[in-house]
Amino acid sequence: MNKVENKTLTISYREYVSSAELPLAEKNLLEQAVAMADNAYAPYSKFNVGAAILMDSGETVTGANQENAAYPSGICAERSALYYAGAKYPDVPIRAIAVAAKQDGAQTEDPAYPCGACRQAIVQYEVKFGSKIKVIVGGAGKIQVFESISDLLPFVFDNI
Ligand SMILES: [Zn+2]
Repeated sequence: MNKVENKTLTISYREYVSSAELPLAEKNLLEQAVAMADNAYAPYSKFNVGAAILMDSGETVTGANQENAAYPSGICAERSALYYAGAKYPDVPIRAIAVAAKQDGAQTEDPAYPCGACRQAIVQYEVKFGSKIKVIVGGAGKIQVFESISDLLPFVFDNI
């Protein structure tokens, strides 16, 4: 006798139409991500992404996507910042990461979300420190704030 349950997963997040409405710490972090998009090296996609990480120490670590002619050798903005943070401050938890993108020199209207690989990488640091990492994705006309990366990657692989 099979018993099937249909279940629903709900996530909640904050959404703003302007970064001016964000709490100051989130606004500052997002502004750094927007500025960092100018440091991207994206000759192939021409999609410049910046990321800014707020450490538990209050320090900020930033990154930008770095592309390569051998495509898989490049890395996203989020992971360039994450791995730098992990290498430089191995014992400091990560509190938040902000992500923003520019095309043709202007911030995209809609947010750019972390790709699947970056979501998994962010999860790893939640697991490492046992504390949530807030994700702030910012477009010029829409900003969303997720209190944990698990909101963007439910049923994550962290079994090992
Ligand atoms: Zn990515």
